[in-house]
Amino acid sequence: MKLFKVKKSNIDKKGRGLYATKDIKEGTKIINYVGKIITKKQTEESKKFDNAKPIYLFNLNSRYDLDGDVTWNTARLINHSCSNNCDYDGKGLKLWVSTIKDIKKGEELTCDYGFGYDEDYKQFPCKCGSINCVGYIVREGSRWRINKKFKMSFKKNPRLSK
Ligand SMILES: [Zn+2]
Repeated sequence: MKLFKVKKSNIDKKGRGLYATKDIKEGTKIINYVGKIITKKQTEESKKFDNAKPIYLFNLNSRYDLDGDVTWNTARLINHSCSNNCDYDGKGLKLWVSTIKDIKKGEELTCDYGFGYDEDYKQFPCKCGSINCVGYIVREGSRWRINKKFKMSFKKNPRLSK
């Protein structure tokens, strides 16, 4: 039996999410995060990642990124929460999603999308509804996610270099 099922999300009212089909212990691997492995050069040249869909792009290593915006990647349906119960983990070119706390049957599985903080953060409002919600999908010191536009504005923004 799978640990999750896909159904209409309570967080993303227009979309779907993953829900626990039974109680799951902390530290359990839920699903592989799959997609197309592309070179940094392809990421730089692709307009796709300018702003509309950066949430599916992961930094694998100094040469490759992973484009998870493909229909066969069920893990892309996992929504962001400011009180996430899962997180992305990885080794080499492999990525997966594991639980970071005990989860009860019926709970929605959520991750921290981990965008860097800058003046453009308002393009990603958060509706997770948790008491810790900061209103936007941001996290300082993000490790996996990359966003060309964010990276560039970090360099250009003089307030951040003080
Ligand atoms: Zn939130």
